Amino acid sequence: SKLLEARDLRKSYGNGESRVNVLNGIDLDLEQGTTTALVGASGAGKSTLLHLLGALDHPSGGTVRFRGDDIFRKSDRELAAFRNKSIGFVFQFHHLLPEFSALENVMMPALIARVPRRDAISLASALLADVGLGHRLTHRPGELSGGEQQRVAIARALVLSPDLLLADEPTGNLDMKTSDGVHALLGDLQKKHGLTLVVVTHNERLAAAMGRTVHLTDGKLELTSI
Ligand code: ADP
Ligand code: ADP
Repeated sequence: SKLLEARDLRKSYGNGESRVNVLNGIDLDLEQGTTTALVGASGAGKSTLLHLLGALDHPSGGTVRFRGDDIFRKSDRELAAFRNKSIGFVFQFHHLLPEFSALENVMMPALIARVPRRDAISLASALLADVGLGHRLTHRPGELSGGEQQRVAIARALVLSPDLLLADEPTGNLDMKTSDGVHALLGDLQKKHGLTLVVVTHNERLAAAMGRTVHLTDGKLELTSI
């Protein structure tokens, strides 16, 4: 079934002379449980699109329907609740809290959502085991390698069981071998949790291996493979 439907999405930044149109009418459907790789030149608007799909920012025009619901008709409060419940984000830089252990970092969104502490601990431990870090629960981010830090960030993104995982160049900061491992992990988690995954990547080889690829060029999307 259809999880998300974007129609004629537009985004501009700035006003008057300095106005820049980044997205010029994007149509995109995401079927539940599928992977979509989003590729395009630097500055093409990939992050902008991901932010709109995940309701981190408002479009200048167009709609995003999530299970049929027009998300930008929600109030800011409703939108924040929707985002917490339904969307997981992974960014190029992990944004882990340096003073907290891997386990505490992964638990944090659950604690904020008032999941009981014991349940949060068991959820977070299970997810860290899933990402291959069952032996690193008490390590702080600074004691982990780059690939391990990104695995913790992925576990954190999944702790509230989102339907949609949006990953913005999750391996942009990693060497090639580590990148391959993180991409493989994302693929495994996608299958195991039945996630709908959108991943921005520069690596077209990895993109093609993960699912369909869509290209963002001149503010429009082109489907290049299924
Ligand atoms: P990509 O992720 O493909 O590299 P981005 O979505 O980050 O592209 O950026 C697309 C364009 O929009 C770039 O020209 C960028 O400078 C511009 N842009 C992104 N965010 C903002 C913003 N908050 N204000 C003004 N311009 C922005
Ligand atoms: P990689 O080869 O993946 O970059 P490192 O060589 O940085 O990894 O680290 C190897 C292992 O040692 C990692 O699993 C990491 O968790 C652990 N480690 C690295 N630095 C520390 C530290 N300061 N304290 C505890 N464990 C550490």
